[in-house]
Amino acid sequence: MTALRPDVAEPDRDGPADVAQAEGNGLVQLHESIATLLASRGQWRQAYQHLRSAFDLACADQDEQPKIPEQLRREVDRLRREHAEAREQSLRDSLTDSYNRRYLDQRLVDLESGRGASTPGLAIALIDLDWFKQVNDTFGHLLGDRVLQRVVELLQEDLPKGGFCARYGGEEFVLVLPEVDVTTAVEIAEAARLRVERHAWQSLAPGLRVTVSVGLACESDGEDPAARAPVAPEQQLLRADSLLYTAKQSGRNAVAYREGGRVRLAGAASGRRGIAESRVAGY
Ligand code: GH3
Ligand code: MG
Ligand code: MG
Repeated sequence: MTALRPDVAEPDRDGPADVAQAEGNGLVQLHESIATLLASRGQWRQAYQHLRSAFDLACADQDEQPKIPEQLRREVDRLRREHAEAREQSLRDSLTDSYNRRYLDQRLVDLESGRGASTPGLAIALIDLDWFKQVNDTFGHLLGDRVLQRVVELLQEDLPKGGFCARYGGEEFVLVLPEVDVTTAVEIAEAARLRVERHAWQSLAPGLRVTVSVGLACESDGEDPAARAPVAPEQQLLRADSLLYTAKQSGRNAVAYREGGRVRLAGAASGRRGIAESRVAGY
């Protein structure tokens, strides 16, 4: 193997330091060119990484105080901002601006892996608009879209710290409420349901009325509330789905949840008779 040793290198005008310097500059330019190309294609993450490499190379050349070319610094800042914005947008639903399913899935994985067995208390509310097809059929799809946007605003009001709303798909949304007990989760879900019911929908279209049904699954809702075993989020979503079915079957515009081994309806709906439990699964 041939070793390139500086002490035996040809003593010409371009010594090893100059060669390295020239190569370094070339690399900086190469990274910048690639970054420009990638940015023009909207590949912000990769563009940012190349600018970062150019930036690091430029810094490595400085003996003392690193002098970053002003233009490069501005480019890095701009790309960093655009990258952060693009990332945020990729996690949002374009119609309602609520978080999307991708965000929901990521956060549920994070929530599951990031907590100890001693901190269960995750509640998941699956929310479905009632008779929404009729809303579209009667008032038009565009107004239906505005209803969905308004419903998200109402659902997101007064969420506890760490809680968030995500669009699950179509006219279904999820409220994720970390570290709450059943009583608190029911209060939050019932308050959200009431806000939707009581909203001045007539201001959007005369005769419009909108309600939601909610299936609320809480980790600590078993026979023995003291036995707060963590439940996998997918399992909780299944439970919430079953409870949503109960809420629909029990007359809609209600929050169905489970406590002490029994399925119940929250608030005024608790007086309704014949609560359908048949599909409540996963317990
Ligand atoms: P239920 O009370 O049983 O949930 O009845 P529903 O009419 O709400 O349920 P169904 O599943 O029959 O209809 C859901 C409707 O939601 C049909 C679909 O066109 C509408 N929908 C889903 N996504 C959107 C959307 O982004 N915009 C609008 N305007 N409508 C949507
Ligand atoms: Mg639905
Ligand atoms: Mg519906």
